[in-house]
Amino acid sequence: MMKQHEGIFTIDHRASPGLTKADLAKAGVSGPAVAEGEIFEAATMTCGHACGAIVIKNPDRVRARGHCHSCDQYICDSCAIAYTQDGLCRAKAKVADHVLEQHFRADAGMTPLLQLPWDAPGNISGQNP
Ligand SMILES: [Zn+2]
Ligand SMILES: [Zn+2]
Repeated sequence: MMKQHEGIFTIDHRASPGLTKADLAKAGVSGPAVAEGEIFEAATMTCGHACGAIVIKNPDRVRARGHCHSCDQYICDSCAIAYTQDGLCRAKAKVADHVLEQHFRADAGMTPLLQLPWDAPGNISGQNP
């Protein structure tokens, strides 16, 4: 059974002339060269933090994948670097809640929330000292 936030990436060249490694290199594209008549499938994972990147799993990877202990989600390499540096959880739901609350408060004439402690869409510059 597929885990939540996992998916499948498919390149179907069963009815296509396909691509060679030389074709990909000429186009400046990296990725699998799927020849005529072949299908390429790979598992994907979605980053649980606000970037929401969909990452194609490399079955040969030996390094540990990023994981946030606060929201208990897989996080992509870029988000894992930020998380390692400051230990802050940037979960999608947390950022979305913050943005909605800021808009609600602005519409209702209420005092805005403090900014999130990182650069995020819900942060409106000049609110905090
Ligand atoms: Zn991410
Ligand atoms: Zn998190």
